[in-house]
Amino acid sequence: MKIAVCPGSFDPITSGHLDIIERATFLYDKIIVAVAKNTLKKPLFSVEERMKFAEEAVKNFKGVEVKLFDCLLVEFAQKNQAQVIVRGLRAITDFEHEFQMAQLNRKLDRNIETIFMMASPEYGYLSSSAVKEIAKFNGQIEGLVPKEVEISLRRLFGK
Ligand code: ADP
Repeated sequence: MKIAVCPGSFDPITSGHLDIIERATFLYDKIIVAVAKNTLKKPLFSVEERMKFAEEAVKNFKGVEVKLFDCLLVEFAQKNQAQVIVRGLRAITDFEHEFQMAQLNRKLDRNIETIFMMASPEYGYLSSSAVKEIAKFNGQIEGLVPKEVEISLRRLFGK
């Protein structure tokens, strides 16, 4: 059974994340969406909220599970018998950071392969931070995030 991990902070999960997760379900038997408890960026949503949004958003995808992760990514993959880490690439600006992480993870465990999927053109510009920025100024976020996330952001930013 081929198991892949889609890791991230998912603060909050966006349509761009969901596009990558769904496309990964066509390639692997099981996908574990690994929601990072601690992230370098100070999260807007708690890990519980980020997980709840992700769980709701993937509930109709086949073979997708959402789990919290609070350790080294390769350790999480090992514990969950995953052979693959799936990451999304939007622009060349993502590349340097992703390249470094993939090489570091390979150094830690060369049996775990990092696979990159190119963002779909309609989501190439989309990021969690952009969505938060738009929501903060009461801009239109419909379609950029799942409905529950949209409602929460509207509530948080007072509209
Ligand atoms: P991290 O904080 O670890 O970068 P994110 O939650 O921001 O986590 O992103 C998780 C993964 O999803 C990353 O591989 C990121 O490149 C990818 N991703 C984020 N937004 C998009 C998008 N719009 N299209 C494709 N991939 C994306």
